[in-house]
Amino acid sequence: MARQKAATKKSASKKQNSAKPQKAAPRAVRKQPKPPFPEQGISPPGEEAKMDPRPRYEAPAYRAAAKLQGMVALVTGGDSGIGRSAAVLFAREGAYVALVHLPEEQKDADETLRAIGAEGTEGISIPGDVSDPKFCKKAVEKTLKKFGRLDILVNNAAYQQHRESVEEVDIEQWDRTFKTNIYGYFYMVKAALPHLPEGGAIINTSSITGLEGNKSLIDYSSTKGAINAFTKSLAQSLAERRIRVNAVAPGPVWTPLNPAERSPEEMQEFGAGTPYGRPAEPEEVAPAFVFFASAADSHYVTGQVLGVLGGETTAG
Ligand code: NAD
Repeated sequence: MARQKAATKKSASKKQNSAKPQKAAPRAVRKQPKPPFPEQGISPPGEEAKMDPRPRYEAPAYRAAAKLQGMVALVTGGDSGIGRSAAVLFAREGAYVALVHLPEEQKDADETLRAIGAEGTEGISIPGDVSDPKFCKKAVEKTLKKFGRLDILVNNAAYQQHRESVEEVDIEQWDRTFKTNIYGYFYMVKAALPHLPEGGAIINTSSITGLEGNKSLIDYSSTKGAINAFTKSLAQSLAERRIRVNAVAPGPVWTPLNPAERSPEEMQEFGAGTPYGRPAEPEEVAPAFVFFASAADSHYVTGQVLGVLGGETTAG
């Protein structure tokens, strides 16, 4: 009898053991490229297809859970970089995606469309300039015409040009940076808002420069600071309608934005000053956009600026 009991106990404990994880899941960790980076040889606005190493947007460790099933997202600057990776993860979560981008970036947009298709949904590319309010209206109309609804707006397009001093920032540059980075966000919100349902989301791409400032990016940093205040103010104003408004503020990210306008010498050590000692890859930033897009994840979260900063803790 005692022997039988012991045997039962033994087989029960064996069963328990087999339910335990056999080994640690390795998929969350993929080794990412770090400085020094080679010369990229690209110019503004920056073709991602020409970069080496290629920015990583595929997020192989990211498993979908149908969080955005049947929803529609519009992502400005969705052809490349952070916007591309967010668009691909949205598609993995079941969303259809409209990509707004500069006409010069059609090749990058085509690659993103293929990647969206490979996730099992569909995308459209809408080339144009977000600093033109008429275009922003048209972009929303085209999205509605194609997909019939709009649930998520990602304001992510940006213009950036480093200058050594404020004297070097001319009025034309100041205007272009503001017209793209903050006027463009406002125009897109005006165009999209009448169509966003309860539970919809607006996500604005900010930057560490909007929290800390940057002496070589005075105009750009100022727009990013404005984006943070815009995010919080809009969140307050739309809380009753249950439309969440949040921002993602990355540190350095390996995308065409910086190598397109900075010297190879500067780019060689890009991201080396972060506690991680390297820039983020777009695939490491994109899940923050899914978090804010998905009501299942962030229903009670609005008006937040989420830093994705590789260990930097003083910003904000
Ligand atoms: P990116 O060059 O891949 O994306 C920028 C996109 O903006 C381009 O695809 C371009 O088509 C689009 N764009 C620019 N001007 C436009 C206009 N007038 N109309 C329509 N589209 C326009 O670079 P990225 O780094 O992925 O940038 C995405 C966002 O991330 C930006 O808001 C940027 O400020 C922010 N950001 C980037 C970094 C970084 O280090 N790369 C760091 C912090 C924040």
